[in-house]
Parts: sequence; C-alpha cells; structure tokens
Amino acid sequence: MEALLEDLAAAHRPSSPVGRIPASIPHLSAADPLGFGIAVATVEGEVFGAGDADVPFSIQSISKLFSLALALAGDPGEALWRRVLREPSGTAFNSLVQLEAESGIPRNPFINAGALVVTDFLMERLGDAGEAVLAFLRGLSGSARITVDGDAAAAELAASSRNRALAHFLADFGNLHNPVDAVLTHYVRHCSIAMSCRDLARAGLFLARGGVASPDGPRVLSADNAKRINSIMLTCGMYDAAGEFAYRVGLPGKSGVGGGILAVVPGRCTVCVWSPGLDAKGNSVAGTAALAELTARTGWSVF
Ligand code: GLN
Repeated sequence: MEALLEDLAAAHRPSSPVGRIPASIPHLSAADPLGFGIAVATVEGEVFGAGDADVPFSIQSISKLFSLALALAGDPGEALWRRVLREPSGTAFNSLVQLEAESGIPRNPFINAGALVVTDFLMERLGDAGEAVLAFLRGLSGSARITVDGDAAAAELAASSRNRALAHFLADFGNLHNPVDAVLTHYVRHCSIAMSCRDLARAGLFLARGGVASPDGPRVLSADNAKRINSIMLTCGMYDAAGEFAYRVGLPGKSGVGGGILAVVPGRCTVCVWSPGLDAKGNSVAGTAALAELTARTGWSVF
C-alpha cells in the first residue's frame, strides 16, 4: 500500500500550478500550489500516507460531511429532512437559483444552502456548531492538534456576500431559526478547520465501517444513516461534477475548495487526497486524477 501511495504522489504532485484557487476565500491562496498528499485508513485500523499526508489544509466543504453526520446522529425523528432535500443540484455549490424556485428548501445538505441549514439545525441542538464539529473531528481522528484556523474564518466571513445572500433567502423562507450572522459565523468556523489527509482519512472511517468509529469503538451513527451519507456523497458530494466523479472514480466522495477530497470504500477503507489547484467546479484537479488512478489500479469501487 505504501508503495502504491508513493507512486501516486510521484505521478500526481503538480510540477507547476494547475487549476485555480478560489478568489472568494482569500486565505486559501496561502497554500502551496504544488502540495500533494494522500492517505488511506483501513477498517482494520492501519493508516498509510505519502507526499504531504501530514500537512494540515483547510477542509472547507468536507466539514459538511461531519456536520451532517452529527445532525443525523441526534435526529431520530428525521426533522432535518423536512428542511433539506437529498437530490443532486446540477448547479454550483454556492448557487442561488434553485433556492428560490424550491421555496427555500435546499436541494441537498452538501451545497452551501443545505449546509447552512444543517449548521442552523446543529446550533438549535448543540449551541456552538463550530465547536461541535471540531470536537467531533478530534474525537474521530484521535488527534487533539486539529484546530479552527481563525484567520481563515475571519477572512471568509468578511468576503461572504454570496453565502450571506443564501442565508437571507433561507431566513426569508423560514428555513433558518437562528440569526443570519450567527449561522454564517458557525458555518465558516467549521469550514476553516485545518487538518491533514491522515487525520481526515481516520476521521471518516465510520462511513466505511457502517457507522462504527473503530473496531471496538463507539457507534457514531446507525448503519442506515452511514449508508445514507455514503449515498448522498455519491450523488451530491462533488456538486455539479458528481456524475463525472462517479464515472472516473466510482466511490462516494466529498470535496472542499481547500483542495481536499475524502472518499469512502465501504467495508474496506477511506482515502483522503489533497492538492490545492481546483477545476471549474471547485474540485481538486490532481486529487481527482489520483483517486481515478487509485481505483483503476486497485479495483476499489462501489460498482
Ligand atoms: N466555505 C466554502 C464556501 O462556503 C466552502 C465551499 C466548498 O468547499 N465547496 O463557499
């Protein structure tokens, strides 16, 4: 496994900057454009890494996976699903158009509108949603060094006109129960969590293990909800590139504009890749290519 990951890192680390870094989050341009990390965490508890597998990066929308898991874990009555749908959007992650057409009910929990509702939902139940997601990630990965990058959060908040517009739309339709400013603050805080591929691969393992964090560890989610999150990752995790990612990689995955992607091979392992250059849909160029080669070489796929 180590040799395979070394191979992938050598083949996919960019030799010159590829793609683009989003202008909407000024802080992300500080990342090394030639960075590349990859880690695999197995259901048996082994973790392998190559390249910059231990370099922390901004997890951005990958945090939406963990906010959703926390929300579902505390929602036996499925109240969340009356406020968010489970359909791919086919539009950009920060698009406003469907929100008006669908009366303030976001298409899925991974586009920004849906994630803002999930954050609001967590705030109602747990108070501090940013801290709750951070504590959840620390617990799952066993790594206390994971932090919120406060400068990145402040920079994103100051540049959040688009998300503010989405939040006001939601509020106007009665689908935010906390003040817009508070929801945005909690949302950017969980998006600005910085952690490494190795820690993220470990944190996502409950999705490969049917909801259980470690072989002898606690159940994080019901097996049904773990299956459902994997399904939503497959159909919505890469936004309007979900079809292309399913075609090329064949795994549930969740991307973030920090350049990370977390993919799940149910029953076997999780894979986390990071490289900051993004394609036009906001997904890591080198990360997607590396995952496509990994699944082609190993045969790991849900299909
Ligand atoms: N924090 C980012 C935003 O709200 C997350 C987007 C992403 O990673 N796709 O725009």
